[in-house]
Amino acid sequence: MHFLKAALAVTALSASLISAPALAQDKGFVGIAMPTQSSARWISDGNSMVEQFKEAGYETDLQYAEDDIPNQLAQIENMITKGVNVLVIAAIDGTTLSNALANADAAGISVIAYDRLIRDSEHVDYYATFDNFKVGVQQANTLVEGLEERFADVKPWNVELFGGSPDDNNAYFFYDGAMSVLQPMIDAGDIVIKSEQSGMQTVGTLRWDGSVAQARMDNLLSANYTDDRVHGVLSPYDGLSIGIISSLRGVGYGTGDMKMPIVTGQDAEVPSVKAILRGDQYSTIFKDTRELARVTVGMVEAVLNDGEPEINDTETYDNGVKVVPSYLLEPLPVTEANWREVLVDSGYYEASQIED
Ligand code: BGC
Repeated sequence: MHFLKAALAVTALSASLISAPALAQDKGFVGIAMPTQSSARWISDGNSMVEQFKEAGYETDLQYAEDDIPNQLAQIENMITKGVNVLVIAAIDGTTLSNALANADAAGISVIAYDRLIRDSEHVDYYATFDNFKVGVQQANTLVEGLEERFADVKPWNVELFGGSPDDNNAYFFYDGAMSVLQPMIDAGDIVIKSEQSGMQTVGTLRWDGSVAQARMDNLLSANYTDDRVHGVLSPYDGLSIGIISSLRGVGYGTGDMKMPIVTGQDAEVPSVKAILRGDQYSTIFKDTRELARVTVGMVEAVLNDGEPEINDTETYDNGVKVVPSYLLEPLPVTEANWREVLVDSGYYEASQIED
């Protein structure tokens, strides 16, 4: 199977060499389909991959689809036509790629799902990601840690829940991970969801859109918190956290005796790390995109050389058709206490990007 794919891939590469002589020295041609440039993490992912693939001797075609599904499909089809050997895809909607992947398979192209699982297709060879359930657990743990720190004298704590995009498989893992910590506390009466809104179908945020989260937070506040205070907000992504924080600030949280609620996040994006230093956001989760790129480059090398990529999970990621062999990296919680060590000492950011 691997051998056949590799053989077909070589044929596809030779075909592409005729029309693209610039690729003649390369070990292979990798199509990288990323979801959007509206979030810095995907830009880091793309840049790290291009850099690392280049160092390893590969040519790349990196495309961003700006969260538009037809756009991403067209980009992938185009990569297939151009004769890539491997596709690395971070899907916008994990359920809409089946036809494109069938075409890729027919052309002998291997497919690696990057960060987000691609569902409902047998043509997903490997999955490189982080331990997404653990991300959710860490988000909830930092939420509780923050509540204990800032609202030790108030109990029960009023918390509102936000989920990620319902078309992103990761969103369910983040939510389920977080609820594995929060549900027992809700059941015990330590945490109250005043809006009574829970479950991914209710609290999900389509396309991870910060303005949608901001509008929902506005509604939650006016419907439930005119006579009461909210103490914590579970937010699964920094872009949502920034919208949620604007909404909270808009009604006076963070001034006078209205303490800022504990707001979580994910991706350690610069505006959120700055918000953590200001005390507006409490935590984020750092997922080192350089490491994810490294794992992905390793998978591609193995796939194209008929080897076995390194995987560390063969159980978790059932895409509806098959369990996709995966490599899960470790996420790291970040707060005011460790941001410098995790983000600056690791070389991910310069201190001057954060402290201006
Ligand atoms: C990624 C997160 C990111 C989110 C929004 C998820 O699939 O795993 O890191 O925050 O998409 O871009």
